[in-house]
Amino acid sequence: MMDAAGIDKGALAAHLGHGRPLEKSQLALDHGLAFERKVTSQGATPLVPLLRHALELTLPEVAYEDVNSVGSDHDTSSLGLRHARTSHLVLDAARGKSEPRTLLDHPVLRLTVGGHPVYLEPDVVAFQCNGKFHIVEIKSFPVIHGQADPVKVTAALFQAAAYVLALRELLEGDGLSPEHVSDTVVLVNPRNFSLRPTATSQSASLQIKILSRHLNRFDRLPELLDRLPPHTTFDLAPGPDKKPTRPRGDLVAALATTRPHYTPGCRHHCDLALHCRAEARNRGNIKALGTAVGEDLAGIDTIATALALADEHLHPSRDQKDITQALRHAHRIHADLRTGHA
Ligand code: SF4
Repeated sequence: MMDAAGIDKGALAAHLGHGRPLEKSQLALDHGLAFERKVTSQGATPLVPLLRHALELTLPEVAYEDVNSVGSDHDTSSLGLRHARTSHLVLDAARGKSEPRTLLDHPVLRLTVGGHPVYLEPDVVAFQCNGKFHIVEIKSFPVIHGQADPVKVTAALFQAAAYVLALRELLEGDGLSPEHVSDTVVLVNPRNFSLRPTATSQSASLQIKILSRHLNRFDRLPELLDRLPPHTTFDLAPGPDKKPTRPRGDLVAALATTRPHYTPGCRHHCDLALHCRAEARNRGNIKALGTAVGEDLAGIDTIATALALADEHLHPSRDQKDITQALRHAHRIHADLRTGHA
């Protein structure tokens, strides 16, 4: 609901006194920027052999265009201008009208979210000769001995999925087949602890399906809005100095009406994650302990219920019998360890 309404969740979090989740240090940001510059330097020369390998390209040569500054002397042109240029290049390439733009750097795409256009900035769009577009994501998390952090890979694939859908929307809007955009995306990461890049092709089809489902749910927004108490608002009531004047308790109460379902994965994509985590912990929500614990204790909603079942203060329902047995076993081991009888 908040995304569809275009609410600045970062501003809400800041007003509530929460920083951005998993905020990167300046050192990490500089490292990421240095890596991206290295990969896209000299017309993305270092990227080309990686893409050839990852996508099995056989292009003899590669056309490259940086869409960062078009039609202006500024380093970065407006999003609207860059989007217009990106659309022109992509559509011409898809129709075979122009020299295929094999690599578009700093393109701007547009995705419709809840009826509103949202601008997105992929790292690179690679265009293959046989008419398939691939999204290339340059990420600064390392691949160590061929393995990258799976949580970060999934987050990157969700990001790429949004770009795939935006590119498909662009093509469909011009009467072209969305099939021109591949589900296969390329992640470019530093290898081990160096700045040397390595590229892997990954299927983002699952993330594309999940994201499409979420976007389609925006069509049910009126239904969701009907469940909110009348006059619910997330307005920060800025004063003449533009600073929010809304009482924090009032805002927290308004947020609670949306019944957020926090999971630790929220920290990778939502500015309100630290607020929702604190609320989930206050309510003793099992999911605040992580996906694995949530799955292990499926059918139990709160930490208080799990503890009451474990120390036999609560009688389990029929569905909770197996998990209660496991909890009581763990409880006995824990008690034995504490008393030194183990
Ligand atoms: S539940 Fe997660 S996604 Fe929803 S507002 Fe809270 S942190 Fe954001």
